[in-house]
Amino acid sequence: MTSTLQPAVTARGPLDDARTQLREATTILGYDEGLYSMLATPRREVTVSIPLRRDNGDTELLIGHRVQHNFSRGPAKGGLRYSPDVNLDEVRALAMWMTWKCALLDVPYGGAKGGVRIDPRNYSSAELERVTRRYTSEISPLIGPERDIPAPDIGTDENTMAWLMDTYSVQQGHTVLGVATGKPVSLGGSLGRATATSRGVVHVALAALRSRGIDPVGATAAVQGFGKVGSYAARFLAEAGVRVVAVSDQYGAIGSHAGLDIPSVEEHVDTHGSVVGFPAGEEVDDLLTLDVDLLVPAAIEGVVHAGNAEQVRAQVIVEGANGPTTPEADTILQSRGRLVVPDILANAGGVIVSYFEWVQANQAYWWSADEVEARLADRMTTAWDRVTEHAARLDLPLRTAATCLAVERVAQAHLLRGLYP
Ligand code: GLU
Repeated sequence: MTSTLQPAVTARGPLDDARTQLREATTILGYDEGLYSMLATPRREVTVSIPLRRDNGDTELLIGHRVQHNFSRGPAKGGLRYSPDVNLDEVRALAMWMTWKCALLDVPYGGAKGGVRIDPRNYSSAELERVTRRYTSEISPLIGPERDIPAPDIGTDENTMAWLMDTYSVQQGHTVLGVATGKPVSLGGSLGRATATSRGVVHVALAALRSRGIDPVGATAAVQGFGKVGSYAARFLAEAGVRVVAVSDQYGAIGSHAGLDIPSVEEHVDTHGSVVGFPAGEEVDDLLTLDVDLLVPAAIEGVVHAGNAEQVRAQVIVEGANGPTTPEADTILQSRGRLVVPDILANAGGVIVSYFEWVQANQAYWWSADEVEARLADRMTTAWDRVTEHAARLDLPLRTAATCLAVERVAQAHLLRGLYP
């Protein structure tokens, strides 16, 4: 296991975006350079090498990271991503956003993120299990229910969390359900966790549309990404009466003016592995610039940027993904009167129910699906009200208001604890 504290690379990317947002918040809050630097820099980060024996007997070396951005308010918390695009700066940015997300929603955690640079589509389940077990073993001194609690993210799922929990537990000599969240329900997972991020996205999307005087029933929406977040978000939007006119995945986008039948699209994806070729839809060129009321980017970072923000026609943009809008695009969208509901609010449903799962695991007492969903709705509504009130009072965009509220909470905890030694 090797520790790295590399300087940030200079090309603009998610870490620059995250630091730009933080800089704006600390300037508004009147914090000094020392506090900014502390919040801009991860508390702890590790890079591990993962030698993998492929099914054909070859050996391959993969690289993984775990970054703990902050733990002033409690254990570090955040997902584990398997993607060919994973790099340390991306993980640092995602870890920082987790800190703000947990603080904003008043979930008693700091922020963390992990990643392995791998394209999981090219590996068998047995290979992914070996990767997960070796990665877990390498980072195990850093994780645990009171230290750092991983969860699924892009390219990982409940099976990944089952392997991670098992590997950690075998090393500890007893079962530790609270070391990971997003586990299978039969293995200490929470009811409602799998759909939680999307439910939260839809709670705030409906509130955001209404705040703009748009009736969600009959409003139009486009959803980018048809994975864990986008597919359920599309489904729940449609169930709420929104006409989902386009969806996309990494292979392409499809649309229908009359609205897509989302359960049929899901069936098509189950059989064909992509939304592309869905018989009751036409191919769509650029989903992000469609003339819709609501746009939900629910894929990856940086998709709405200076080069396309002028063309975005949606009135309301609700960030299902982490970091889909760059600061330059934020400025453009703001000047064009668009409402952007930021990731740290919009997609917080996942970590909220992760928190519920951890609470249930630590108490060995399980809640009903209705209880989970009612508590999730309550937290999302409270956060939406708080952020929109703060934004209105200070005349700030929602992202700036949300980041200020979150950063202030983290800074308060940090200052109350004081510096050691
Ligand atoms: N990966 C999710 C996120 O980005 C969930 C994290 C968690 O539940 O810890 O918010």
